[in-house]
Amino acid sequence: MTTTPTTGPAPAGTFAVEDPATLEVVDHVRDHDLADARSAVDRAAAALRPWAGLAPRVRSEVLRRAHELMLRDRDRLAGLIAAENGKSLVDAAGEVTYAAEFFRWFAEEAVRPGGDYGESPAGGTRTVVRHVPVGVAALVTPWNFPAAMATRKLAPALAAGCTVVLKPAAETPLTALAVARLLTEAGAPDGVVNVVPTTDAAGVVGAWLADERVRKISFTGSTAVGRLLLRQAADRVVNASMELGGNAPFIVTEDADLDAAVAGAMVAKFRNGGQACTAANRFYVHSDVAFDFTARIVAEVEKLTTGPAADGCAIGPLISRAAVERVERAVADAVAEGARVAGRGALPEAPGHFVAPTVLADVPAGAAIMREEIFGPVLPITTWSEEADMVDLVNDTEYGLAAYVYAGDLGRAMRLGEQVEAGMVGVNRGLVSDPAAPFGGFKQSGLGREGARDGLREFQETQYLSVDWP
Ligand code: NAD
Repeated sequence: MTTTPTTGPAPAGTFAVEDPATLEVVDHVRDHDLADARSAVDRAAAALRPWAGLAPRVRSEVLRRAHELMLRDRDRLAGLIAAENGKSLVDAAGEVTYAAEFFRWFAEEAVRPGGDYGESPAGGTRTVVRHVPVGVAALVTPWNFPAAMATRKLAPALAAGCTVVLKPAAETPLTALAVARLLTEAGAPDGVVNVVPTTDAAGVVGAWLADERVRKISFTGSTAVGRLLLRQAADRVVNASMELGGNAPFIVTEDADLDAAVAGAMVAKFRNGGQACTAANRFYVHSDVAFDFTARIVAEVEKLTTGPAADGCAIGPLISRAAVERVERAVADAVAEGARVAGRGALPEAPGHFVAPTVLADVPAGAAIMREEIFGPVLPITTWSEEADMVDLVNDTEYGLAAYVYAGDLGRAMRLGEQVEAGMVGVNRGLVSDPAAPFGGFKQSGLGREGARDGLREFQETQYLSVDWP
């Protein structure tokens, strides 16, 4: 850990950030109010024209340096993420590398703002199309990937020429503040990036959405809060991108390579202790291989070490006591509905918000746990024998973020993947996140995409000039 726990009451005007593994206070952070929210927009608005007016190459170089600085400071940042979020140091270091990659990708995209040129069908007129920064952007991020959810928005926004106000989750503001300092070191001018930690999320974000200078809201978090922000954005028709909740199915066919499927399942389920929007949430395993798959998964789960990141454990705590109670209730309800606890990992002797990694077998396909986002280290398995019925069950959800398909025959895997209503499908892979690919969901999992070329477009307006060309 790079932080020293502090003791005593929070100084006035600040709030405490707690390590969910030890329940110690990691640091105190200034609690920004509505006046602070407004002055952050003042700074972003003042910085907009000069930043947008720089040559794309100059903005690109700031992002490239930010990529290098994040990698230089990987261990320090991983320690900070582990301290405020609780995830293992391996997961935290992996997150820093992934987060830094958005700076590199968008450093490369910054010099390709795009555009087009056309002739009108009737002749005489030329159409010149350009992509311009949308303006001051409000970014709102969750606690589960404190670095990557910030850089996945910051990098394309800055590449496009936008300036930003960023509200990190109150559970994990320290990483966002550290990333902003690195951007300053990389050469981002004053006012381009303004991080506004607060315990008044609704007040601050509401004020931004009501401020006519804010032209964009980019939100990552729960579908419930996303809906709320979309309603508020409607008042001023604010350009909105939404990365919301998921309920990813993990499908295993009878001809799948079970070694690969088990390895993929462990990553898809237990990375970040299951606290990922792309986490495999419900397992559909063909009845011919379900016994074997379950036995192998249980063996792997019983090997997982759960405990504080500082002890080198693979699985950290959940973010809060409320999250522990929610996950424990979901398991108890599933058992009441007929599921069987097939295996369980050990719990540490630590005060933090821990739940034991758990495998549930014989879960009824209609059980509540198969419909709700678990956001914890619980792996429920149901079985199937008719492919068409299984696909219907898989698609019977309001969510459509990620999905995973394991099949021995690649043609079958692709066909199944194409039938799943999800924005991202891992085909014989347990990981879909990639800065070069368009990340986002179907249905109530979101609007718009982050990463890839698409991520830049989310922070641009399209303008055309219709030119009389005699
Ligand atoms: P959350 O919706 O409670 O909070 C997300 C952010 O919104 C935080 O910064 C929070 O302070 C803020 N917020 C909360 N209430 C608000 C309000 N009334 N007005 C304005 N802002 C408000 O979500 P969470 O619990 O922090 O994160 C978990 C959720 O995020 C899960 O549903 C998960 O699937 C989703 N998620 C989605 C993605 C994705 O890319 N699709 C990525 C990570 C997490």
